[in-house]
This record gives sequence, structure tokens and C-alpha cells, in this order.
Amino acid sequence: MSESPVWHPFTQHGLREPIPLVTHAEGAVLHTQDGRRIVDAISSWWVTTHGHNHPRIVAAIRAQAERLDQIIFAGWTHEPAERLARDLLTIMPAALTRVFFSDSGSTSVEVALKMALGYWNARGEARHRIVVMEHSYHGDTIGAMSVGARGVFNSAYAPLLFDVTTIPYPGGGREQATLDALSQACATGAAAFIVEPLVLGAGGMLFYDTELLRQMRAICADAGVLFIADEVMTGWGRTGTLLACEQAAVVPDILCLSKGLTGGAIPLAVTLASEPVWDAHYAEDRARMFFHSSSYTANPIACAAANANLAIWRDEPVRARIDRLALAQADRLAKVARHPRVSGARQCGTIAAFELDAGQGYLSALAPRLLRFFAEHDVLLRPLGETVYVMPPYGITPDELDRVYAAIAAALDEVR
Ligand code: PLP
Repeated sequence: MSESPVWHPFTQHGLREPIPLVTHAEGAVLHTQDGRRIVDAISSWWVTTHGHNHPRIVAAIRAQAERLDQIIFAGWTHEPAERLARDLLTIMPAALTRVFFSDSGSTSVEVALKMALGYWNARGEARHRIVVMEHSYHGDTIGAMSVGARGVFNSAYAPLLFDVTTIPYPGGGREQATLDALSQACATGAAAFIVEPLVLGAGGMLFYDTELLRQMRAICADAGVLFIADEVMTGWGRTGTLLACEQAAVVPDILCLSKGLTGGAIPLAVTLASEPVWDAHYAEDRARMFFHSSSYTANPIACAAANANLAIWRDEPVRARIDRLALAQADRLAKVARHPRVSGARQCGTIAAFELDAGQGYLSALAPRLLRFFAEHDVLLRPLGETVYVMPPYGITPDELDRVYAAIAAALDEVR
């Protein structure tokens, strides 16, 4: 067969690693063309919440596709989007009153940043500076990269990225330094602070505690700086609660959601805004409208999938599954943590993580070897450099999770 013309994301094709072809999936299992059954231990890049091909989501997609596939969303609307917006607001913090649709986590962040700048522009205040946390990741579009950590991922594009103020990650007893830096940035007229609540995902599954999140929110509120919660990864139960912000009783001014919004079946994102942010754009003056769209904004099929996801959260014991998974992870992680090569074993809700031979960073030579080893053991795990993490769909069975941890145990002994 001739070489595939497909250019894959975050893939160095020059390494000529085999790229498995997946034919179908159910629950936490992916089936490949060559007959393998792979356990998806990272929820296919953190999107699959309940499990692959949940029958209710599949049925909703099928039914909607037969009725209305796509409709321009500027000046037009449709029932799946209207229902989704209303139902979302019933389960989100009450201060978030408006729902803006887009297509991915990155676009939900772009929308959030533009809303924040639009807010200050409408108020006639020249506030443009965005405050971010060290090690953050918010996506790969130019704006989202600008508010994320700088490094090998984006050094080629550095001249295009806008300046931000970075506050320290509050690990290793640096909580006060984080709070002080945020206070200082807020005092000098920042427009907004964007943060991943409780877990910095792509930055290495770095956790911080609820009290710090609460204090950071309070600092922004006192200074009138908009607080943007990027719950693209942490949302939909990953940290044990529907939103991570919930654990700190934090209500953001702007909230980004994507990934698990459709149960992970189809791309969709929302940026929720509080009334003041909406009001800043509300006028008879067309020049003050919110200038953002994409062709597929609020695609009806994606909205139908999201409505089915919300129904699953209402009707099925999703929270009990999350609690069960959290316990199952704790049990297995405790055994891994005893291995002499392992450090930093930690867990937040359904997410378990640890470092293997710590000290080498994202381009650790171990990472590609681990990737290959896990693939050979029919487990989809994709370490972030030296950080190995397990973030499976909530419906993973104990046997499947055992397979994941058996592969990890073997890797600890065999991969050098
Ligand atoms: N924000 C966070 C916290 C993320 O973890 C991600 C992706 O992993 C994004 C934004 C970007 O989402 P997407 O890949 O859907 O553009």
C-alpha cells in the first residue's frame, strides 16, 4: 500500500511509527483493523466520558441527521440548540446566563478571550492584558497558544503570540507567590485571568487545591478582573464533580466547555457568559455586536448529541460511576506508587497520574518508548513526557482497568 497522505496531529511522521487503524469501538474498547482490542485509557484525548458509542448519543445523532443537518446560526436558530442552551443553564452556576456555541476547546477559549476584551472595550477602558498560570494549556490556535505555556510546542510561532502576564504554578509550597503575583497583575489593570481549575492537564496533570482556586477567584472579583474558567478538560465529571469549580464554590464570569459536552461523540463547544459580559455587547449599535462565528456554529447534529449527553447525566447513575472509577483508580495507583521508579503519584477524581524517572521533561526519551510499549500491550496511554496518566471513560470495567495497570506495571519493569 502506498504511504498515507494523512498528516496526523502531534505526530512526528519521520519516526515512522505504525499508526493503528481503528474500525469500531464500544465502551472503553477500540477495535483495530488487525483484530486487536485496545483499552482506551485516555478517553481518546479526554473527550469520551460515558464510553464510546453510547447508544442514546448514537440514536440522537442518527435521528437529528435525518431531520436537520446544518443551518446558519447567525440570525437563525433551531430546537436542539435552544434546548441545549436552556438545559445547560439549569445545571451550571446561576450567574452564567448566556451560551455562545463554537466547535472545539480552542475556539471556546478564543471566544472567551474576545468576550473579555469586548467587555472592556464597551466599557471604554483600555484593558487588554490577560493573566495566565505557568504550565497552562488552552489549545493550539494562536490566541489559545498565547495564553498557554511557551515551549517546544509553540516556539516556531512565538513572534505571533501576544504578551501575557504569567503567575507561578502553586506547586511546591508556592501558593503565596501565586496569589501575590495574581494580586499584583490585577492591580495593574488586567482584563482577565484564564485558568484550568484544579488540574493543569497538558502541562503534566499538575494539581492544585480548591482553597487556592477560591482565593484566586476572590482576588479577581475584588479587582473587577474577569475570571475565565477553562473547564474543557476538567468539565463533565473528570475531577469528581460536574465542574471542577464546584469543589471550590467558584463561579467564573466566563466558562469554557467542550470535549465531554457531547459525551465525546462529536465536536462542539460552548462559552458561557455572565450577564455583565452579555450586556457589554448588547446595544442597538451593530458595531458593538460580538464579532465571532464559524460555519458550523451550534451544528444541530452536535447539539442533539449534547442533549443526549445531558439526558444521560439526568437519567443514568453517572455520578456513581465516577465515584466507582475514582475508588478503582485509587486502589490501583497505590500499588504503582510503591515502585522505586515512580514519584509524584496523585489523583483528582477520575484522573490518576505519576512521574516515571522524573527529571527529563516533555521530550523525555522514555516517552516514545512507553507509547510503543503500551500500544504493543493493547492499551491506549499517551504519557506527557515522563508523566503517565490514566483518564478512562467512566464506564470502563474493573477488568479493563486491570489490563491498563498490568501494562503500566510491566512498563515499570521493562521500559528503560
Ligand atoms: N483547554 C484545555 C484545558 C484543554 O485541555 C484543551 C485540549 O486538551 C483545550 C483547551 C483545547 O481543546 P481542543 O483540542 O478541543 O481545541
